[in-house]
Amino acid sequence: MISEKMMSLGKKSSVIRGIFEYGKKRKAEIGAENVFDFSLGNPSVPAPKEVTEIMKEFLETVPAEVLHGYTSGPGDIGVRTEIANYINNKFKVEASANLIYMTCGAAASLTISLNAIVNSGDEAIVLAPFFPEYRVFAEQAGATLKVVPCKKEDLQIDFVALEKAITNKTKAIIVNSPNNPSGVIIPECDIIKLSELLNNKQEEYGTDIYLLADEPYRELVFTGEEVPYIPKYYDNTIVCYSYSKALSLPGERIGYIFVSPKVTDCGDVYAAVCGAGRALGYVCAPSLMQYTIAKCLDKTADVSIYEANRKMLYDALTEYGYTVIKPDGAFYMFVKSPVEDANEFCEMAKKYELLLVPSDDFGVNGFVRISYCVSPEQIENSLPAFKKLIEEYKK
Ligand code: PLP
Repeated sequence: MISEKMMSLGKKSSVIRGIFEYGKKRKAEIGAENVFDFSLGNPSVPAPKEVTEIMKEFLETVPAEVLHGYTSGPGDIGVRTEIANYINNKFKVEASANLIYMTCGAAASLTISLNAIVNSGDEAIVLAPFFPEYRVFAEQAGATLKVVPCKKEDLQIDFVALEKAITNKTKAIIVNSPNNPSGVIIPECDIIKLSELLNNKQEEYGTDIYLLADEPYRELVFTGEEVPYIPKYYDNTIVCYSYSKALSLPGERIGYIFVSPKVTDCGDVYAAVCGAGRALGYVCAPSLMQYTIAKCLDKTADVSIYEANRKMLYDALTEYGYTVIKPDGAFYMFVKSPVEDANEFCEMAKKYELLLVPSDDFGVNGFVRISYCVSPEQIENSLPAFKKLIEEYKK
């Protein structure tokens, strides 16, 4: 008998992937230019030229046994040192190479971190709306997932609800700012409040509650504000970073975990991270990519394109009569469904070849997510379809 749990996970693809697959079929039928696929968070802006240049240089100059060889399990020590220095310069925290673990992107960072800290029976809290894979990652690690809805009006943390949800079994809270799917950024005052709440709860229960800061969108900010760096505010923080989004390298599978030196017994927690990486088969992240990102730490793709997309889409949708949560960052827009059932709305959108993702799997009902990390042309060409779609509901 094989694992029923894994089989059902494998058979049931995520809603997002399901829509993306539908889009691929539809594009083959009627031409890619006629399908407005807003399903996946797959960056359309190319990685900066420095990435390709450095990769070419490495390919030509570094011996293959080094470039394509194994690094040490947690990642190359030189690369981890560069990352630690970068973090220290930028955020003034005391990162060190021996608290950094190279991973295959944020997904691996999260699964490894959760497996490192969770014991069976523990609870992991997510704030809705949330990236749907959190459920898979947390439950696989043995945690019970608790969903705490954010405040309806602005999708910021609802502290009353959060406080009620925290128990002596709470092991982790995942925060994702800028947020997928809402684009909301948690302001500094709320990070301070969150930190105070968690410190009080840790003291009350005599436990450690870890904040997992899921940060693939850290650099994608359109308001000029600085996204608070959580290790500066809360000691028991583990940062799960990825180069998938801002550096446009999602298929290269590269990121890292940074265990804050202020985490209780940080050496043990880091050892548990190494152990979880080993147990999950995530040792030695792709070598070529480790060496490459170490040379591109302060680079991003041209994210101004996303900013322009955001403006074009937001202005048009609000003009047409949609209710939109204005995103401060990431490259997603959360739009209220004009009918209660967002699935029904997404089906109607398909009539206009608009591929949108219903919000149910993000832990809230009645919204759709639009991934606007697409070409500006796609947005421009899709606007008449968005207009006709909302008009269906004005009849
Ligand atoms: N966390 C969030 C919030 C995401 O949106 C994603 C990907 O879309 C991930 C994690 C996984 O990122 P990666 O591709 O780096 O594994």
